[in-house]
Amino acid sequence: MKIAILPGDGIGTEIVAEAVKVLQALGLGFEMETALVGGAAYEAHGHPLPEATLKLAMQADAVLFGAVGDWKYDTLDRPLRPEQAILGLRKNMGLFANFRPAICYEQLVDASSLKPELVAGLDILIVRELTGDIYFGQPRGRRVATDGHFPGSEEAFDTMRYSLPEIERIAHVAFQAAMKRSKRVTSVDKANVLETFQLWKDVVTEVGQQYPEVALDHMYVDNAAMQLVKAPKKFDVLVTGNMFGDILSDAAAMLTGSIGMLPSASLNSKGQGLYEPSHGSAPDIAGKGIANPLATILSAAMMLRFSLNQAAAAQRIEAAVKSVLQQGLRTADIYSAGTTKVSTKQMGDAVLQALR
Ligand code: NAD
Repeated sequence: MKIAILPGDGIGTEIVAEAVKVLQALGLGFEMETALVGGAAYEAHGHPLPEATLKLAMQADAVLFGAVGDWKYDTLDRPLRPEQAILGLRKNMGLFANFRPAICYEQLVDASSLKPELVAGLDILIVRELTGDIYFGQPRGRRVATDGHFPGSEEAFDTMRYSLPEIERIAHVAFQAAMKRSKRVTSVDKANVLETFQLWKDVVTEVGQQYPEVALDHMYVDNAAMQLVKAPKKFDVLVTGNMFGDILSDAAAMLTGSIGMLPSASLNSKGQGLYEPSHGSAPDIAGKGIANPLATILSAAMMLRFSLNQAAAAQRIEAAVKSVLQQGLRTADIYSAGTTKVSTKQMGDAVLQALR
């Protein structure tokens, strides 16, 4: 089994190093090959997703990805910006289904920004469509020059689009996931204003008829944002488009205590997947050795379960993470009085210890 390791930029290299240690400690003989991506690849090869990196990712059984991006690349032409690498990987690998579980660990109830009673026992799954929507529409317009002068057009737009088959396949993924959980799906849209999301709503309703055991409801995205912070436990599976999913899953991350705890999986129709923490490259804390590696370690566990058929090993990792939290070990983002503050590396070492 071959794993492509793409650490990327900022804290990406620090957190992926800890996840790789954990994968190696399982002793399952994975073949792992590392390549540059994002800003690091742009610096070395002039492109955020070099041909060789894409080839490695396409040929691997799974990709473990850190994060890409840095403010210093914000003035580059858009196709050369680090974030384009992740869009390119999603498109070329056909990764259309993004799973973002938001679980509030019992030990981290106090780290959430919400009251403990609202988040204790929280376990929701956001299923985000990844290959359509406004992120893959036609962008138009020119960026504002650094001196504030508009160099060309004074208008910009991006087109939002979804096709029926794209909505159908993500709806099936969501209903199938719900069948293994509490059998409830909330489809999030903006059908009151956007034609794209009227189509979304109609297609999800139609697919839902094939899953009579699953209760389906529809919610506008503004209300969903409100309900996520008002009563998050009323959700089971949320399914939504690319942009709404991007925003809502970050909000859901905070319910769990920190975005540093949230893994994600992006799968194609063959089960090949890209696994990454839900957060970005965190330039504000990069190089300080304080980033939380648990989202990446938990992403490696999702990789074992979804792409490498190693559910028992995935469970071992998840149990080891619970164990270090139980021991009171915390990186700065989840630290609270009475617990022990540890570095990125110390957290990785503690997971290894617990694994053994
Ligand atoms: P971010 O997720 O990088 O950081 C948001 C906040 O969360 C920061 O305060 C950061 O310090 C904190 N944080 C994030 N991960 C953490 C961790 N593991 N441990 C502790 N704290 C953590 O989002 P941002 O600041 O909006 O973006 C920074 C860069 O990352 C940008 O260039 C952006 O485009 C990029 N980005 C990349 C991805 C990706 O690679 N998939 C996703 C989101 C953002």
